[in-house]
Parts: sequence; structure tokens; C-alpha cells
Amino acid sequence: MEPSKVDVLIVGAGPAGLMLSLWMAKLGIKTRVVDKRTGKIVSGQADGFQCRTLEIFDSFGIGQKVWQESNHMLEVSFWNPGEDGKIRRHHRGPNTQPNLSRFTESVLQQGRVESFLIDTIRASASPKHPLIEIERSVMPTTLSIDESCVNDEDAYPVEVTLRHLTEEEATPTQRLSNLQDGLYRSNLAEDDTEKLIANTSGVREEKVQAKYVVGCDGAHSWVRKTLGEGFEMKGESTDAIWGVLDIIPITDFPDIRSRCMIHSAEFGAMMVIPRENKLVRVYTQLKEVSTGTGRVDRSQITPELILQTARKILSPYTLDYHYIDWWTAYQIGQRVGDRFSKHNRIFLAGDAVHTHSPKAGQGMNVSMGDTYNLGWKLGLVCKKLLRPEVLDTYELERRQIARQLIAFDHKFSRLFSGRPATDGSGEGSSMSEFQEAFREAQLFITGVGIRYQPSLLVCKENDDTGDLGGGLQAETAPQSSAASTAGLATNCRPGTRFASQKVMAQSDARPWELQLQMPSDGRFRIVVFGGDISQAKQLATVNELGAWLQANLLSPAKSPRISLAPGPDPRGGSGSSQWMTDQDPSIVDVLLVHAASREQIELLQDLHPVYHPFDKKLGWDYGKVFVDGQTHHEGHGRAYERYGVDPARGAIVAVRPDGYIGLVTALQGEDGWKQLQAWFGGLLRSV
Ligand code: FAD
Repeated sequence: MEPSKVDVLIVGAGPAGLMLSLWMAKLGIKTRVVDKRTGKIVSGQADGFQCRTLEIFDSFGIGQKVWQESNHMLEVSFWNPGEDGKIRRHHRGPNTQPNLSRFTESVLQQGRVESFLIDTIRASASPKHPLIEIERSVMPTTLSIDESCVNDEDAYPVEVTLRHLTEEEATPTQRLSNLQDGLYRSNLAEDDTEKLIANTSGVREEKVQAKYVVGCDGAHSWVRKTLGEGFEMKGESTDAIWGVLDIIPITDFPDIRSRCMIHSAEFGAMMVIPRENKLVRVYTQLKEVSTGTGRVDRSQITPELILQTARKILSPYTLDYHYIDWWTAYQIGQRVGDRFSKHNRIFLAGDAVHTHSPKAGQGMNVSMGDTYNLGWKLGLVCKKLLRPEVLDTYELERRQIARQLIAFDHKFSRLFSGRPATDGSGEGSSMSEFQEAFREAQLFITGVGIRYQPSLLVCKENDDTGDLGGGLQAETAPQSSAASTAGLATNCRPGTRFASQKVMAQSDARPWELQLQMPSDGRFRIVVFGGDISQAKQLATVNELGAWLQANLLSPAKSPRISLAPGPDPRGGSGSSQWMTDQDPSIVDVLLVHAASREQIELLQDLHPVYHPFDKKLGWDYGKVFVDGQTHHEGHGRAYERYGVDPARGAIVAVRPDGYIGLVTALQGEDGWKQLQAWFGGLLRSV
């Protein structure tokens, strides 16, 4: 049979694979997604969602669902042994540093979130957006790349054999049949992929040729192993084994509904994660389980053993349960791959290219962060809207994050698994050292502190030191020219995510989080901080810019068009009304935020049509102009102050489709406008 053809083949439908599938669905890319297991996760596994991940979910219209169903983990308590050896609370504080995001860390079972992602993938189908179904019980058995045509964008250089598994082959074995046992996905379990491939009797296989293949197939990644030399994971394992129990606890421990980091004098450490539906997750260090021979005896690990350990650590408080939802165990280790892509045709993402301990709630978040970064680039390159060189920035941007993650986890895990300093010997980790490490890492843990280095996508600032935080320096990459951004929008630094501030719609006085006006639909945004446009000169500048944008960036001749998918819209309503119009919008969207009094400005009469585009079926768009002012019910957002923009000067901020700032430039004078044009020219094929 002739091989079938597909633009993108995604191997693995865990968090990384589903996030990528969602982008493909939104952008209308012909995609297949295969997973060797029969079904999605029904309980257990990851549960902590960081602020940035919730912002990303919100940009796809599913943030509020997760926010509503999840437990908001607002407080963290640190417990340490006192002089009498009994644990006592040493400190209590906010779990997420205040004012970093409009969200705080929240906890919800991974499978629930996977359902939201799958529903949204389905809802994004339309005549221009092929339906993407997750194909379960399917896995690749061979993969080859035709290197002679990797630079031909119309070629399908990657050939993969896909095998359809029987239900028995695709169903993992549960050790204790009455419980949801997560050991089969743990790094303590052996992977069954090679065994499945070795069985060749009566198999059903097909060949697929793909333009791009993405390995989202987890820590045992077959795709990564198949790429061979140069794609090894580097790092180390410790001999610390941790057990995890999801239970409804019966306990007199007073902080059971707070996140707790508990160090006992003799029995190791424990973490408490309060979850949805009265569940609590406990992580305990299993000192009894030996790694001496190099291989852990998994038969020793049972829910009872994890409970017994937790009881000893919590003593004199008691712990019991009637209901257990899930359990697992894992060995702590940190590993990261050197290369995330081969010829920009095969990519690796998520656990397939970085693994570490789960306690800081990072793996799923960073894994989805990888494919959130890759998805729009891949989709827009497939649509021939973006220059293929942009794909180089995936490895550049995400390898840096993976390395920061491994460095953070290395430090955090050792501090957590280490003996507490209680006996005055000066040995062991002190509570204040541990608390400080946790506090310092907040920007990274929450995801909002990520700063991508200068590249085609991120303009270098004149005053940029290249310091990315965490002791890491930016790697070098082809760059767009340096911008003279000094003092323009001081809290909008290229490479960081465009933070959300409250602004008010000019048309109807509704307060909005500005991030909600930037849904993940594949469009770039130009945010014009017009300043005080009640001043005639400032208004004239903003309108001249409007005319210039229309002529140089937005007209159909200059700017590629993009079809918007249906499905949930973070701005409310029942989804995009784009289906009512024949015109696809420009890939560049313009928003105006001004600092004049709302009463002094008339949207249609005073402002250039770029700020209220007209469609013959939909009329004027009233949703593009916002005021930094006093709202009727929700106070004043102080957006100019928080973005660091001077109302007398204004500024222009260009935002990538993933919400990261690419360029900050001047509103006054045409130099900044030309810089904007040059930046887009380096990325888009038609500008
Ligand atoms: P995975 O979730 O491993 O998904 C890989 C998918 O690929 C699976 O569906 C698998 O069936 C499929 N697959 C594998 N091999 C093949 C193949 N050969 N062919 C086809 N399909 C294949 N992270 C957090 O962010 N927050 C947390 O709170 C958190 N808690 C955790 C708690 C525990 C106990 C554990 C074990 C992990 C936790 N993590 C947490 C980590 C998180 O679960 C992982 O980092 C995350 O699931 C990685 O996502 P992924 O999509 O890259 O890989």
C-alpha cells in the first residue's frame, strides 16, 4: 500500500503531545497523533498547574474551567524538627509570590486537564481546520529521514511505520488490581516498547510520510532513542526513592489543607499537596527501599509502606484513610538532552528530552511549555506564512529552559531529601536555606520569569546583558537588530511574556485583562500604547501610525491572512464569529491602549480605521481600543504604570503568537515603525 501523507505526526498524547495537537487544530494543520496506550490517564500522575500554564490555558479558552475545578494552593508551611525532635511549624507564607500573575498555582488531576485539551481540539474543527483525533493503541516501529530533501519545504522527508496494537498489548499491567497503580509510568518501571516491537506475529502496520515528526513520547522516548548518536540524555540519578499516595486523609495534622514541606529528625522528608475533591497527595521519601544493587526491588513498594513512612514523619500527629485514589513511586534523577531537533524536521519535547523529580510540579508544565513554544512556529511554517529559519528558535529557547529546570531541580531535590540541620553539627540543610531556595526559585517555578534569549524572534535591547537569571547566560543566535528601547516600556522586556494588566474597553467600559485580547490563534499582536491622545499632537501620531500600519503591514498585499478556528474564545461568547465573514484576518492584529480620559475620545470618529476595522457582515470591530482609566466597578488598572510606559511618549510592543514580547519600540518618529517592519520582515514571508 502507498504510504499516506501528513504534515505533522505527533508520537505520544500526554500533556506535551496534546498541547501540540491543540495548536495544530487551531491553525488547521493536517496532523496525526498516535499513542501506544488504550486511554488517557484517569487518576493520579501530575496535578500542579503553574501560573504561566494557566495563562496559556486561558489563551485557548479553557483556563477558567481548570481554575474553577482545581484546588487553589495559596499557602505553604515549612515544618522542621524542634529541639525535642518533634516536628513543628517554622514558617507559613504564600505559596505563589503575590502579583506575579492573575492566577496562583492550582492543583487538578492530569486526566481532567487532558479531557479539556481533547474537547478543545475537537471543537476547533471546521471546513478549514481538519478534525484531529487521538489515535490510541498505535505506535511507531521504524523511522527514517531522507536527508536529501530536508531543505525542500514541500517534501515529506520523514517515513514512519505505524503499528496498530491489540487491546491487550496497549493496556498497561496494574500490579495491585483493585487500585490505580501508577508504577507502570514510573521511572522505576521497565519500558515495554522494545518488547512490543519484537512481537511480529499477525501485526497490522501502515507507512506514513510526514513533513515533520514530533516525539512527545515521554521519558523512555522511542523517537529520541531512534535518532541515535547525539541524542543521548545527560545527567545523573540519585539513590533517593519517593512514594506518592493520593488519599482522602483522616488526620489531626493541622496544616493538611496547606501545601507543606516537612522534614523529620529521623525518618526523612514529606510533602503535602492539598487537592480537589478533598484529596490530598503525600510524597514521602522511602528510606527502606534499597537501591544498593542498582535496581530497585519494586515489589517492596506498596501503598501501606508509603503510609507507614508518612505516619512516622508526621508523628505525633496521626494519619489514616478510607479512600485511596492512586499511588506510585519514583527515583530522583535529572537528565537533559543536548539536541531537541534533527534538521528541524524531527523534534523532541517534554519528558522525551528532560526528566527530573516531580515534587516542584514542573514536568507537565515545562513539557506543555515546550510544545506551546513549538506549535505555532511549526503550524505557521506548514502554512508557509513564517520563514522556516524560525524553527531554529525552538531548540534555542527551550533547551535553555530545560537546563534551568534541571539546575533548579538538582538543588531543590537535594535540599529536600537531605538531612535537616538540627544537632548543631553544622551538617544538613537548614530550614532557612530551604525556604530561601524555594522563594528565590519562584519566578522560574511559576513560569512567569522565563526570558527567551535574543534571536530572530526576540529583539536584543541596547542595555541587554544577556543574563537570563539563574546564573545562565544567553546563547547566541541570529538576531534582529538592537532596538533603542531605553525607558519606553520598562516592564515589557523582549523575550518575557507580555504580562496582563486590567484595562477598560473604550466602546462599553467593560474591564478586561489585556492578555485575554491575545488568544492563541496564531496571530502576532502590535500593542500601541498611544499615550494621552486627548492631546491633538499625540492623537495625530497614533492616527499616522494607523495609516502607516495599514499601508505597510496589514494590507492583504503585505500581510498574510490566517483562518481562525471555532471553539472557546477567552473573550467570552460562543466562540469566534469569524465564520460569518468571508475574509480571513491579517496575521498581524493591532490593539490600542490609550491613557486619555475615555469621555474625551470617540472610537469611530477620532481614531483611524485600523483601530476599528470594518467588515461588511460584522460591522465595526469595537474590541480593539482600551483605556487605562477608572472603571465603574473594578477600580483603576494602572496599566501604564505597571507596563512602565510614560503617557507623554507612549510605546509600541510587538507580541508573538505565544504571548512573548518580540520587540519594544518608539511610537514617536518613523524609526520605531521601520524597526517594527524590519522585525516582521525577518519572520513573515510576505512582508
Ligand atoms: P508523558 O506524560 O509521559 O506522555 C507520553 C505519552 O506518550 C504517553 O501517553 C505514552 O503512552 C505515550 N508513548 C510513550 N511511548 C510511546 C511510543 N513508543 N509510541 C506511542 N506512544 C508512546 N508535573 C507537573 O508539571 N506538575 C506536577 O504536579 C507533577 N506531578 C507529578 C507527580 C508524579 C507522581 C509523577 C510521576 C510525575 C509528575 N509530574 C508533574 C511530571 C509529569 O507527569 C510529566 O513531566 C509529564 O507528564 C510529561 O509530559 P509528556 O507529555 O512529555 O510525557
